[in-house]
Amino acid sequence: MSKPLSRQPATTLRDASGHIVMLDTVTRDYSTPTHTVRALRGVSLEIDHGQLVALRGRSGSGKTTLLNMIGGLDRPTSGRVHVTGVDITDLGDADLVRMRRDNIGYIFQTFGLIPILSAAENVEIPLRLLGVSREERSERSRVLLELVGLSDRAKHRPHELSGGEQQRVAIARSLANRPSILIADEPTGQLDSHTGRSIMNLILALARSEDVAVVVATHDTTLIDLADRVLDLLDGEIVTDSGQRARN
Ligand code: ADP
Ligand code: MG
Repeated sequence: MSKPLSRQPATTLRDASGHIVMLDTVTRDYSTPTHTVRALRGVSLEIDHGQLVALRGRSGSGKTTLLNMIGGLDRPTSGRVHVTGVDITDLGDADLVRMRRDNIGYIFQTFGLIPILSAAENVEIPLRLLGVSREERSERSRVLLELVGLSDRAKHRPHELSGGEQQRVAIARSLANRPSILIADEPTGQLDSHTGRSIMNLILALARSEDVAVVVATHDTTLIDLADRVLDLLDGEIVTDSGQRARN
């Protein structure tokens, strides 16, 4: 059975509180032979459906660790994580893999494309994992590559593409499973500023058109200016949250 290509109504993905992501007092410790690093110090956070969130903080502040929690790529040392209304904190590995496959798209600084596959084949990977038929896969990858402006590069392998083009392919791939949450960890970190700007503009446009919650670790001013919300992370704590102004 293949997953229908149209996503289920968003309401079925929300928990009673309406949040697509909820972190409750999340800590993450990394143990090394000599000491323990507390990378997250009791982070509590709610992200709404369709929200575009920029995550700022200097290197080592915990951005990647926090994104890994939200995206189910890692587990907290203490605290709880809910994604699309499901408490994923204690999910078994297989269930966690399924949760990620069904709900989450990832964009990394280093693109993460498979070198021997064409752009179209890279985009189709998540659809293969979902058991989508060959016809549906190729139609969806065609649409996605068009969405990111790469229709004429479908048969190119990653090494035949520029860095910006590779990131566009990775963005197309991240949307293949129609995620409700997109995680982007410094997606323009390896690109020149001009290319980086066009990638950020693409992510912004897609955040609006694809009805997906997007959490982006970045210092890009375009994105920060236009984000629904900016989180500042310092030493594993959220020290400023522009979305919390009204609450106090
Ligand atoms: P950022 O993405 O903001 O640069 P990270 O989340 O990668 O920050 O790291 C936060 C802190 O946790 C840093 O002090 C980093 O050195 C530490 N850290 C990250 N991953 C590991 C790991 N696998 N083992 C030990 N320490 C780690
Ligand atoms: Mg990082």
